[in-house]
Amino acid sequence: MSFTLAIVGRPNVGKSTLFNRLVGKKLALVDDQPGVTRDLREGEARLADLRFTVIDTAGLEDATDDSLQGRMRRLTERAVEMADICLFMIDARAGVTPLDEMFADILRKKSANVVLAANKGEGAAADAGVIEAYNLGLGEPIRLSAEHGEGLNDLYVQLMPLADQFEAQAVQDTPETDVDLDEGDDDDEENYTVPVPTTAKPLQVAVVGRPNAGKSTLINQILGEERLLTGPEAGITRDAISLRMEWDGVPMRIFDTAGMRKKAKVQEKLEKLSVSDGLRAVKFAEVVVVLLDADIPFEQQDLRIADLAEREGRAVVVAVNKWDIEENKQEKLRDLKEAFTRLLPQLRGAPLITVSAKTGRGLDRLQQAIMRAHDVWNRRVPTAALNRWLVGMLEQHPPPAPQGKRIKLRYMTQAKTRPPGFVVMCSHPDKMPESYKRYLVNGLRQDFDMPGTPIRLTLRSQN
Ligand code: GDP
Ligand code: GDP
Repeated sequence: MSFTLAIVGRPNVGKSTLFNRLVGKKLALVDDQPGVTRDLREGEARLADLRFTVIDTAGLEDATDDSLQGRMRRLTERAVEMADICLFMIDARAGVTPLDEMFADILRKKSANVVLAANKGEGAAADAGVIEAYNLGLGEPIRLSAEHGEGLNDLYVQLMPLADQFEAQAVQDTPETDVDLDEGDDDDEENYTVPVPTTAKPLQVAVVGRPNAGKSTLINQILGEERLLTGPEAGITRDAISLRMEWDGVPMRIFDTAGMRKKAKVQEKLEKLSVSDGLRAVKFAEVVVVLLDADIPFEQQDLRIADLAEREGRAVVVAVNKWDIEENKQEKLRDLKEAFTRLLPQLRGAPLITVSAKTGRGLDRLQQAIMRAHDVWNRRVPTAALNRWLVGMLEQHPPPAPQGKRIKLRYMTQAKTRPPGFVVMCSHPDKMPESYKRYLVNGLRQDFDMPGTPIRLTLRSQN
């Protein structure tokens, strides 16, 4: 069972470009003939493991007559009625326009499932537009670049829970229709109000690590049944990319990279495969669990994937597995913590949890660490509090004055979450030394209690 997604928005924001990217063919060839109304186009879209129908409402860009607005409105309303989910696109470079507000209005009135996308999001020129998009009151915008293919992983993260919801609805709907038709009761209208399942959005977790770290064993233990094949011989084939499960009552979707590797005869090929699978899983996850083997922790491959998770902006939890066979637990833990700080300074404050996938010990702490990391990753700091904080930070350590000109930091706001991203308006942003940015980032992390999440800080010049 899949769903239908309509891409709506004013002309020229990039709807067709995204449509083409999702459908994967040059199906939506740009029409050279002016004045041709292409109306609604449909295609079969793929985004990672999601398959859905996408409707493009581009087709009015050449219409210049007075009725443009009216036609656009009707077309959009029709698309909204056809679709399960609307992707409302704005142009982040242009910012929010009155026409965008009209679209937002339609979508709010239709109370559609809306995913907001700020397109043309590549580069700093889009920063202000992305911030403005929050004001549309349609939730957090996804920063996209349809042209460059950036932000598709964030789109996936937002679509996945909605897709789950439609799957659940489909299951609930089918038998009910039959019953009602047979009985011919007079409550017919009730049939059209689809019961909204109470399933919360599953938290998306990837378990990554080198072959034999114990990823499959860990997931089996969580599932509480031998659903995955495990064994000392690496290279067991499984098809699923992700599994839905409840872990202590919390709905989760776990991306299992071990299961994705194929039987490979050559060891080198196997290593390569598992690395690229790991990369893919990281992109789709909210929280990445880096699973280490206590015997051989922090190997090159572990460091690479942990660093990648940080650069991709995911929340990270480090879990040290096979703790059951460790003899000098205290000493070992001290060494591990020391190595962690030294080898992964970019993950400062991220939790390090010792577990045994085999016996299940420590898994409750791992679950809690995952939820907390997710929470921190989603944290939003109010603008007023941020600016009060900034004043204190500036007093404590005034910014440098390269060539006698003091850099002035004027104003600060949190532009995004998942992970937290902040924008500081200042003079001469290009002259700001990295050390002062680090001072601010570390201060944010400590004062607003955001351990173990990547924090992005952007300096923007204010004229
Ligand atoms: P539509 O009218 O909403 O369907 O918009 P199109 O997909 O036809 O795109 C309008 C223009 O924006 C084209 O010139 C695209 O190449 C350009 N465009 C689309 N996406 C992006 C993007 O992510 N970044 C930039 N810089 N340009 C884009
Ligand atoms: P994967 O390649 O990361 O999926 O690793 P597997 O889950 O297949 O585990 C590799 C081997 O390590 C198997 O022989 C498991 O039985 C063993 N193993 C996994 N977790 C533990 C653990 O917590 N303790 C011990 N002693 N062995 C484990």
